[in-house]
Amino acid sequence: MKYYSTNGKAPLASLETAVVQGLAPDRGLYMPERIDRLPADFFQSMGEMTFHEVACRVASAYFGEDIAEKELREMVCDTLSFPIPLVRVREDIYSLELFHGPTLAFKDVGARFMARMLKHFNQETEVHVLVATSGDTGSAVANGFLGVKGIRVHVLYPKGKVSRIQECQFTTLGRNITALEVDGNFDDCQALVKSAFMDGELNSRLRLTSANSINVARLLPQSFYYFWALAQLHHLGIRENVVVCVPSGNFGNICSGLFAKRMGLPVSRFIAANNANTVFFDYLRSSRYEPRPSIPTLANAMDVGDPSNFARILELYGHSHSAICADISGCVSTDQQIAETMRQCYEETGYMLDPHGACGYRALTQGIREGETGIFLETAHPAKFLQVVNERVPAAKVTIPERLAAFMKGHKQTVPMSRDFADFKEYLLTLSK
Ligand SMILES: *Cc1c(COP(=O)(O)O)cnc(C)c1O
Repeated sequence: MKYYSTNGKAPLASLETAVVQGLAPDRGLYMPERIDRLPADFFQSMGEMTFHEVACRVASAYFGEDIAEKELREMVCDTLSFPIPLVRVREDIYSLELFHGPTLAFKDVGARFMARMLKHFNQETEVHVLVATSGDTGSAVANGFLGVKGIRVHVLYPKGKVSRIQECQFTTLGRNITALEVDGNFDDCQALVKSAFMDGELNSRLRLTSANSINVARLLPQSFYYFWALAQLHHLGIRENVVVCVPSGNFGNICSGLFAKRMGLPVSRFIAANNANTVFFDYLRSSRYEPRPSIPTLANAMDVGDPSNFARILELYGHSHSAICADISGCVSTDQQIAETMRQCYEETGYMLDPHGACGYRALTQGIREGETGIFLETAHPAKFLQVVNERVPAAKVTIPERLAAFMKGHKQTVPMSRDFADFKEYLLTLSK
C-alpha cells in the first residue's frame, strides 16, 4: 500500500517512509492510497470474534501488503495487551472504555502500535524519538516505547507546568526513556524539537523521528477499537442505527472512526464532541474553516484551535462540506456543562465520566434519536483529572488506580534543559558518540 500527501506535492511513500518520516516532505499528512471495504462475512461473524481476531482483520486490511501476517499479528496482540470493554451507562448509551492501558488514556493504543512498527522497520541503527508534550502525549509515547529495542525516547516537557500525576508517567521510567525538563513553556519544547528536525548536522549524525499524533502508525490502529465496539454490540444483538460520538481535539481519533466507516463499519453517523474550542463545530455550520488560538478548558486534551487531522477529513470526503455534514454532526460543551454532566450522569446512573468523556456523553444525550443506540468514546480515566472530578463530583470519591499509583512511587529522573537550542543540540550530539 502506498501513502499520498494531503498537500499533493510529495511523491507517493511506502508505509516505512510514511512511518519513519511522519509528515510528508510538502508538510502534508499521509493518507492511505486505498481504503478497502472488508468482506460481508466479516461483519456477519464479528459478534462472535475476540478482540484480537477483530483487530487483526482490520490491521491486515491496512498493513497486510507490507508486513507478514504472523509478524503483524504479534504487533497487534502485543499492542492490545489490555481490554477495551463496552459498558452500558443508560438504556440506549454505551461507553467504550479506552482507559485500561498503561497511561489510562486512548493514546496508549496508537503509541504502543507505533513503537512496534518503528522497531519492525528499524533493525539496524538506533533511532531517537523526540516528543514535546504538555502532559498526556509524553506519557503515552514514553510508555508505548518503554523497553522497545533500538529506540530511545526523549520527552521534552515544560518545567512546573504539567501535573504531578502526568509527570510521574514519563520521568520515573528510566531504561530507554529520558525526560528533559525544559525551563520554558510547551511552545518552547515544541520549538526545540522542530529545530532539531531541521538541523542538518544533527540529522547527519543521528536518526531522529517524531512520534506525534499525525503519524499513520498512531492513527490507523485506532480503527481497531471502533470495530471491536460494534462487535460487542452485535454480540448483544444490536446491529442497526448506531451513532458513535468522539470527544475531539486534533480529530485523529474520530478520523480513525471515519476510516473504519469507509471500510464498512455499520455506523449510521458520527458526532464530534467539542469543548469551548469550536473550530470544527463552526465549520459544520458555516462551511468556513477558521483556525484560532485555543482556549483552556476542563477537558484540556481537546484544547486545540487548529485540529491537524482536519486536512485528512476534507480529503476523505473529497473536500465536500455537504458530504462531511451527512456523516458528522457537532456538539459543544462549556466547562459548566461538562461539570454539570459529570455530576448528573453520576447521580442518575452511577457512572463516573472524565471531563472529555463528559463532552461525549452530553453530546449523545442531546443528539440521540428515537431507535438509535449511542456509543461514546471514554478517552481517559477520571483519575487522570483527579482535582477536577473530585471538586465537581465529590460524592464519586474517585481514587487513583493501582497502576497509576505505581508510577507515583517511582523515582523522578530528569535532565534539566534550557530553552536555548544550542544546549539541546549539544545534548543530542553527545548521544551520537
Ligand atoms: C488526545 C485526547 C483527546 C483528543 O483526541 P484527538 O485524537 O486529538 O481528537 C480526547 N481525550 C483525551 C483524554 C485525550 O488525551
